[in-house]
Amino acid sequence: MLKKVLIANRGEIALRVLRACREMGIATVAVHSEADKDSLHVKLADESVCIGPAPSPQSYLYIPALIAAAEVTGADAIHPGYGFLAENASFAEQVEQSGFTFIGPRADTIRLMGDKVSAKKAMIEAGVPCVPGSDGALPDNPDEILKIADKVGFPVIIKASGGGGGRGMRVVEKKADLLKAVEMTKAEAEAAFGNPMVYMERFLQKPRHIEIQVLADEHGNAIYLGERDCSMQRRHQKIIEEAPAPFITEEERRRIGESCAAACRRIRYRGAGTFEFLYEDGEFFFIEMNTRVQVEHPITELVTGVDIVQEQLRVAAGMPLSYRQEDIVLQGHAFECRINAEDPYNFIPSPGTIESCHLPGGFGVRVDSHIYQGYRIPPNYDSLIGKICVHGQDRAQAVAKMRVAMDELAITGIKTNAALHRDLFRDPDFVHGGVSIHYLEHWLEERKARLAK
Ligand code: ADP
Repeated sequence: MLKKVLIANRGEIALRVLRACREMGIATVAVHSEADKDSLHVKLADESVCIGPAPSPQSYLYIPALIAAAEVTGADAIHPGYGFLAENASFAEQVEQSGFTFIGPRADTIRLMGDKVSAKKAMIEAGVPCVPGSDGALPDNPDEILKIADKVGFPVIIKASGGGGGRGMRVVEKKADLLKAVEMTKAEAEAAFGNPMVYMERFLQKPRHIEIQVLADEHGNAIYLGERDCSMQRRHQKIIEEAPAPFITEEERRRIGESCAAACRRIRYRGAGTFEFLYEDGEFFFIEMNTRVQVEHPITELVTGVDIVQEQLRVAAGMPLSYRQEDIVLQGHAFECRINAEDPYNFIPSPGTIESCHLPGGFGVRVDSHIYQGYRIPPNYDSLIGKICVHGQDRAQAVAKMRVAMDELAITGIKTNAALHRDLFRDPDFVHGGVSIHYLEHWLEERKARLAK
């Protein structure tokens, strides 16, 4: 087994990884920027190293500092968490070249899946269903682009091959706007991701975002842990997730899950991963793969009983998965609410000092959070300050639990989006289940209009 893991991250995910290591008897090294010296993961880790000033390019994204921290502390492996360097193939490569174990897939897998055009190609070859669209990157010739769009059918979405985090996408309703939109997306992609390559997909009108969690080891085993519905999004960012996805049948789950597990075996995937799909009219369409642990992994842990981070650690140590496919039985229903330090109406970030903080608890309630009374949220990083998850025997019980949990949550000193969650868990359509990825945006527009009156 691994002996000492350096956690190359901060916030709630650093704490999550730290707890998994502790339970397995693995020593931990926390790294932190100057702005994070009072963080919980720093206080709880066996050792900690300051890796630079607050701006992440000089700390959490600064590879030489992370490798040096691993060297001076004698760590044998590095866990990247999510965000920051988690999907940076060059980081994975440098970690391994420096003699440490990277807790994640091989660098070439990260590279293959990080480029959306090559990822889609690999998935088509593996027999995973994809959104109909251009065959790879768009050509330069305008006539050819127009021809492709006619074949795909309007509306279309132009997406950057190197895009991520909901950026680098543009929807085009009609032919007259197409070429200009392609040019603009290319220019933006070049500026933001250093890669001007774009591709085209049919823009689905009312899809749901459904993703499959997978685990794979180096002994040829790959399993799926069911799905999550992450359709509640604002600006392509997930806010509420649930598992399993409402109204998905056993048969649909098995078919798409097996296809993902088979794709993992084919590309010799290693570790935890997620296949993201859009789901419309009974069909799944692959959009991208995340080669890391995801923010919303706890709801899968709740309904399967599998500790995904501990499986990542086992696989990184070269051990086989602790589960076979037949061991995975979904039990009950789980929700996650992402708690952000932001205004619940205009979504402006609200960093600052937490004056008081009461987190919910009780049967079936799980809180992953690094905040505490007196903690100062630095303005330098994203606004996620915690995740409230609930697990009930069925969806109705899980909804009831989340209402109680959100009513108990009380944080003062900063603003949070808790009020938004309270309203959504009393919204009849959301509570009924199965809303599309556009639902929340429409809901927010209606709320705005209502409040303006
Ligand atoms: P990113 O890597 O930036 O998250 P994705 O490819 O995962 O980009 O897409 C993010 C979100 O954008 C999806 O969850 C969905 O809401 C929307 N989206 C992407 N592709 C399509 C499409 N073909 N039709 C409709 N919506 C799409």
